[in-house]
Formats: sequence, C-alpha cells, structure tokens
Amino acid sequence: MRSRLVNRTAEPIVTVMSNLLTLTPEGLYCPLANAHIDPIRPVDRAVITHGHADHARAGHGAVLAARQTLEIMAIRYGPGFCKSQQPAAYGEVVKINGVAVSLHPAGHVLGSAQILLEADGHRTVVSGDYKRHADPTCAPFELVTCDTFVTEATFGLPVFRHPPAASEVAKLLKSMDLFADRTHLLGAYALGKAQRAIAEIRAGGYDRPIYLHGALEKLTSYYQSQGVNLGPIEPVGRRGKELAGALVLCPPGQLSDRWARRFGDPVTSMASGWMRVRARARQRGVELPLIMSDHADWDDLCRTIIETGAEQVWVTHGAEEALVHWCESHGRRALPLNMIGYDDGEDPGHDAAEEAATDAIT
Ligand SMILES: [Zn+2]
Ligand SMILES: [Zn+2]
Repeated sequence: MRSRLVNRTAEPIVTVMSNLLTLTPEGLYCPLANAHIDPIRPVDRAVITHGHADHARAGHGAVLAARQTLEIMAIRYGPGFCKSQQPAAYGEVVKINGVAVSLHPAGHVLGSAQILLEADGHRTVVSGDYKRHADPTCAPFELVTCDTFVTEATFGLPVFRHPPAASEVAKLLKSMDLFADRTHLLGAYALGKAQRAIAEIRAGGYDRPIYLHGALEKLTSYYQSQGVNLGPIEPVGRRGKELAGALVLCPPGQLSDRWARRFGDPVTSMASGWMRVRARARQRGVELPLIMSDHADWDDLCRTIIETGAEQVWVTHGAEEALVHWCESHGRRALPLNMIGYDDGEDPGHDAAEEAATDAIT
C-alpha cells in the first residue's frame, strides 16, 4: 500500500524517505550532503535546477547550479542573490560531504538541469522541470538512469499531448498572412518560452524583425549573449499602430492589459501547454492559442519514468495523482509529494510564479 506524505501544514515535517533525499518544509533535502534542492525558503546550501521563479529563489547561503542558471538568477534578483555561488558544468561531479552531485541537461530552459545524487551505490535523480521535445534554445534532455526518480507532473494527465512546435508556428504564420494589417500579439513568459517561441518562429521561415515588450528584453538579450540565434529583435518602445502587421511578444498578463490597446485591434495569441484547455485560452482572451510547452507531456513523462529504470518514483509539481496511479499500475513504487510552493491548486505555481517574476521585470 502506498504511503501518502502531505506537507500542507505550517508544522515542520521531516520524514526520512531515503538517506539521499527527504522532504522538509523548505523542500527536497539531501541529509548526507546537507543541501536542499530548489528550496522554497532560504537555506544554508541549495542546489538549483533552473531559473524559474518557483525553483530559484533569492536569499540562500551557498548555491550550486549551472553557470547560466546562476547568471539568470543574478539578472532576476541582482548580483547579491546569495552568499556564495558555485557554477557546475553538465556532467561535472561535485563532492559534498561524500555525496557525488552532478547536473545533467533537462531540456527545459537555458541552464536547466536534473540533479543526480550518488552515494553508497544509490542513485537519485531530481528532474526539476524537463521536456523531451526538441528546443533550439537549450541543451537537449539527457536520460540519467537511477534508483529513485523525482519527476515533475505539470502536464501529468493523458489529455496533455503536445503537438510539434512547427505545426503551432504554422498556425501563427498563416494568421499573419490572413490578417496582414493587424498586429499579432503573442503572450509568452520571460524565461524560456519567449525565446523558444522566437526560435521556433524563425525555424518556420519568418525573418522580419520581432518586437518585444520591455519585460522580455533582459532575458532575451541574455539568451542572445549565450549564442542563441533569434534573428532581428527590436523593443516595442512607444510604438503602437506603426506595428500593424508586425509580430509583438509580451508577457501573458499584458494581452488583456491597457498596454495592448496601443495596437488598435491586435490578434491575441499565447504560447503555452495550457492552451490545450479551451477554457484557459478563453479566460485569457486568447484568440489564437498555440500549444507550446517547456514541460514533458503525458507520453514523455511515462516514457521517461520507464527509461530511467527507477524502481521508486516521487511525483511533484502538478497532476500528481494520475501519474502516481500510472506508476503503481506499471509495477513501480510511487509517492505524491504535495509540496507547497510548487503547486497552487487550479493555477499551477510554476505559471503563477513565472508571471509574477515576468511582471516584476520591466
Ligand atoms: Zn520551470
Ligand atoms: Zn516549475
């Protein structure tokens, strides 16, 4: 029978689940290394999977992460976001109190990493957010075999199957042909989605300048500084109706904001895995939903669990129950983590936190 760990109270809960990984009120914790992974509150030593706001927070003591994740955190929180930074290259082994810690590409956003913890012949992988679909803006997901796999489950329901990005881009480009005198406003989060959407649109053959809302500028120029080719990019600045027929990217929250009215009668679009859900698109006032996600879809979650060879699977961050059920019916032990701070009921913590972070950068 499956035990269920619920961490929804303010009381400190420390349950040792393995000597490599346990859950504390701050989040996942490796007692041997005395290090937390993606802690939601300030801790002495943190290992961070990637720069999204629900995983990467300011105020820790020492932070171990990919160089690009550290640089993204510095862009978001300022250079003093922690006491000391330790960058690690993918595959590099860092020994912490006898635990071999290494980062492996997660294919999610620039710098994103799965964390492998190894000690006494046991291997535990914390995936962070990941995807298996190709993404021209970051290193591809690398499969890491392990005994215990901690997987995200943002799109952990069989209804979520992400189409190829090219077919979604084709919808956008067709609409731009059909409504050639209207601005197309594409809502996308500032870290990862905006840059991937641009790269996929370029791959679709669109070579005119793409215009950016101010909140997307810093991280987009950071991606360019890291060698990600995004073609001609220009700030929107004070322009409005001059951009009739052009493509403008903005944070999703701006689609229904007064800011959008400067373009007259724009076609509003949004790139997100949630665009699979019509009610979400409607709620956002999105006319042209593009299903483009930086998370694994249902098929890829299940495939990845099988391929890791893990006997034990911890599920966090999204639709946990369905994936736990799938694991159990496929002969694996599984545990929903129900961690506060990663999952906020109906509206996923990931998107909510990203939106807040996106809006904070102006
Ligand atoms: Zn993320
Ligand atoms: Zn996340």
